[in-house]
Amino acid sequence: MKITLKYEEAPTEDLHLTLRLTLPQKYVNGTNKEVVKLFVDHYNKKHAENPISLEELHLKIVGGIHLDNEDRVKESLSSGDECYLLGKDSEGPKSKPEQGYSAPSAPKEAKESAPADKVVKNADGKVRCKNFGCQKFYDPDGPPQECVHHKSAPIFHETAKWWSCCPDSKAYDFDEFMKIPGCTQGFCTNESQAKKRFMGGADLRADSAPIRLDADAPPDPRQKLESMRRGLVAVGVDSALFEQVVDRLAPNGDLEKACEVLKTRFATALNALQ
Ligand SMILES: [Zn+2]
Ligand SMILES: [Zn+2]
Repeated sequence: MKITLKYEEAPTEDLHLTLRLTLPQKYVNGTNKEVVKLFVDHYNKKHAENPISLEELHLKIVGGIHLDNEDRVKESLSSGDECYLLGKDSEGPKSKPEQGYSAPSAPKEAKESAPADKVVKNADGKVRCKNFGCQKFYDPDGPPQECVHHKSAPIFHETAKWWSCCPDSKAYDFDEFMKIPGCTQGFCTNESQAKKRFMGGADLRADSAPIRLDADAPPDPRQKLESMRRGLVAVGVDSALFEQVVDRLAPNGDLEKACEVLKTRFATALNALQ
């Protein structure tokens, strides 16, 4: 069974993903939830810094009905179907004129559309700014264009949407969400913020340090911190808070020391709960 899955719930296009896949029989006989999981796992591998959650998503046939995660795939979908992956109360992208869409004639095996780093210029030679919440077009060869944007990644939780840097401004629909004024100033850029983690002065230095590529190398402190961040976010801790603490613990770029302090503190906290 060949199906197309589209995830467009994230606020910026570089966090959207379309997968065309051929479902093995095992999945066809299984539940819709396993298809959602297949997509979520693939997505999270690609966007580890902005993971989506299996528990909050379900399928909706494009132009059709919402599907229950517990229903069987073979009773819900047929070959060639296109589905959105939607959050709990989402109705999916607002319907757009269909004439812009041309069906791909290329091979249909798990192929991703729009690689994240592809630079798409519009008719005036401008590209869209990738800063969180900006979305303006700018001329990459022109003078810098001032940009008011958000410092850190968006959070979509149940029906609420907010920027992790501005937790006091919550929105309940997408337009409202995109109107939340930015909290930081800079210049429009084509470099995705989603790739920048722990980017205080500390990190710039750490980034230029050599990285060991051999397989048994001990994990780089940045990897340890990123794993820790993801684990904490998974249980509901605010990502921005964690990043602020890491910045504070590593003012001179000593991320190893930040890891050490966090390890000691977490061990103490866990021991206290024993
Ligand atoms: Zn903000
Ligand atoms: Zn911008």
